[in-house]
Amino acid sequence: MRKVIVMQCQQEISSFNPMQSGFENFHIARGEAILLHRGLNTEIGGALSVLEARDDITVVPTIAATSDSAGPLGPEGWRQLSDVLLSDVLPALQDAEAVYVSLHGAMAATSEMDPEGFLLGEIRRVAGPDKPIVISLDLHGILTEKMLHQVNGVTVYHTYPHVDFAETGVRAARLLLDILDGKVRPVLARVVIPALVRGDELITRTGVYGELIRDCQRLERDGTALAAGILIGNPFTDVPELCSQVIVQTDADPDRACAEAERLAAAFWQDRRRMQGKLIPLDQAIATARTLAGPVIFTDAADATSSGASGDSNAILRALRDARYDRPVLAQIVDPQAAAAAHAAGVGAEIEVSLGGACDPRRFTPMPVRARVRLLGDGSARLETMKTPLFAGPTAVLEFANFTVVTMSRAVSLFDRAMYFANGCNPRDYDLIVVKSPHTEAHMFDDWAERNFNIDAPGATSANIRSLGHSNCARPMFPLDQDLDWSPTSVLFEFGS
Ligand SMILES: [Zn+2]
Repeated sequence: MRKVIVMQCQQEISSFNPMQSGFENFHIARGEAILLHRGLNTEIGGALSVLEARDDITVVPTIAATSDSAGPLGPEGWRQLSDVLLSDVLPALQDAEAVYVSLHGAMAATSEMDPEGFLLGEIRRVAGPDKPIVISLDLHGILTEKMLHQVNGVTVYHTYPHVDFAETGVRAARLLLDILDGKVRPVLARVVIPALVRGDELITRTGVYGELIRDCQRLERDGTALAAGILIGNPFTDVPELCSQVIVQTDADPDRACAEAERLAAAFWQDRRRMQGKLIPLDQAIATARTLAGPVIFTDAADATSSGASGDSNAILRALRDARYDRPVLAQIVDPQAAAAAHAAGVGAEIEVSLGGACDPRRFTPMPVRARVRLLGDGSARLETMKTPLFAGPTAVLEFANFTVVTMSRAVSLFDRAMYFANGCNPRDYDLIVVKSPHTEAHMFDDWAERNFNIDAPGATSANIRSLGHSNCARPMFPLDQDLDWSPTSVLFEFGS
């Protein structure tokens, strides 16, 4: 039997979130527990379906560490995480023949700007040059040169909003087995594009980015490429190698890989201006919302916890209150003190608390409110799409005037309705619903709302990329720098050459 290691490490951070994350942000699964991914729409679920279908392969599930998006990992957290991961994986490499690693790609620790590169470097050092390593990445990942030097193959999500988790794992596992079986010899061409992008044109079903991704899928389908993808990086992970990039892997055909990668990169560059966030000023959105029958959605991409923001922005709540917007508003906020005060007081109690600014006081000033505690909960829920669990800690539904605010102790992904439903709130019962997410899924909100406003508000994940203050990423970089002259140049990577 040939042993194939399965491992996972995923976190997406915003360098602009002042709250550092730690080891305790990670959910760790070990050994057999990883096999619970069987049948799930996850990368590991997809990889297992391929690996376990082969009777000459034994899967060695080692360790899976996953975290909700957050601020950068602090030095102690990174030391602990890397120790725990490597102490499980490195000994298993001894009698394994191949390695699949499921990564996100947008991690950063304050003490290590390329955590994924470090982990892969250690795995390669112990595995030696002959055992194939294939990784899968989120298209928001930052694939670094160090990572590329360690791996034999890479697969990347082809959808945004992401739905192809299992498929990406399937593609990675197939590629890994083809390399292990000696059927293919991948060569990877990469073009680094000095552009950061955001906004609705990145929605793959409808946007220009999707057209380019379908080109990548065509290359895979017709056999031109073993794997192809366009990573846009997470623009909030401010690390030296943050960029957009095209990768095309062919079977021992470097010229074709380079030609396709350069063609796709040139097309991406052409569309870079379209792929920027189009935001509406908050006061203008409120004024327009008043004129509509509603309901309306206020999408707060700047405080998108799923991208690594702190979740404690009260900018929209405050502006609505100041503008005396008087129709029913539903919102969410991270504020551990307010949630604790509500739990101490009990359901039905009136409490005086401040909301917001608990984590990022430089951006948000606490807003005092006198609120009634409508409901208390433990903050557990399950994402509507991925069904993965959320743990927001002690949570309270607070009501004041026309506002209903689900108040959580910890930041969790808020791009769907899971935390609203789990706390007894149906967004359809309100006139104005705040969603802390880069985008909303049509069937969850847009299909029944009259208008969805992409609000320009402050936050650690603002689509107004120039507002964030990047200091580590390479320059020049569009749109931080304008009027760039650029043409695509590919670099080849072939493991072992
Ligand atoms: Zn992503």
